[in-house]
Amino acid sequence: MFELTLTFDNGPEPDITPGVLDLLAREHIRSTFFVLGDKIADPARRRLAERAHAEGHWIGNHTMHHKVPLGEAADPAAAAAEEIDGTQAVLGDLVQPERLFRPFGRGGALGPHLLSGAALERLTAGGYTMVLWNAIPRDFAEPDAWVATALAQCRAQAWTLMVLHDLPTGAMRHLERFIGLAREAGARLRQDFPPECVPIVRGKPVQPLDAYVSKADRAAA
Ligand SMILES: [Zn+2]
Repeated sequence: MFELTLTFDNGPEPDITPGVLDLLAREHIRSTFFVLGDKIADPARRRLAERAHAEGHWIGNHTMHHKVPLGEAADPAAAAAEEIDGTQAVLGDLVQPERLFRPFGRGGALGPHLLSGAALERLTAGGYTMVLWNAIPRDFAEPDAWVATALAQCRAQAWTLMVLHDLPTGAMRHLERFIGLAREAGARLRQDFPPECVPIVRGKPVQPLDAYVSKADRAAA
């Protein structure tokens, strides 16, 4: 047996997200969609996030532009304000009591590029819960081969927090098969997150954060 939490990043996408939502509803699975602020500004995409929210999924903030990691921003304070608080403002009422934030990792890497000192300050001052991950099956890079990787990652740990992407790569064609195989292998699906992947809870750091904050910005601050 193992625990499995699914998250879907970088959407919503009109050609992909509805099918993912249909499947999750059929399978009685609730997840979190970490959406991009500049996509939510589009009414058609916003409606998809509203549907996900109404169907019991959580909506998380995954930055506005998703282009430069916060720890590498040329102007860390301006980037933190726009990417974190600007996105939260766009989300508006599309949130649950807990303000979930997931930084842009560029290919899923964990490291000091994730945050600047200014971004960390915004997250703590704004009461955000920062949700990282412990499984990146690289569905974006291997849209037809990620299922085997994902199953191996699930088997290797007690509770997997997996990052998938509701993007038009073709990867989501295999989501139903993945869920079936994971359940056959003993997966128990759940919506909440393994504590080791959540280093900031409602604005309070609960783990050492040095590994996630750029040193350049801390030295300058
Ligand atoms: Zn992303």
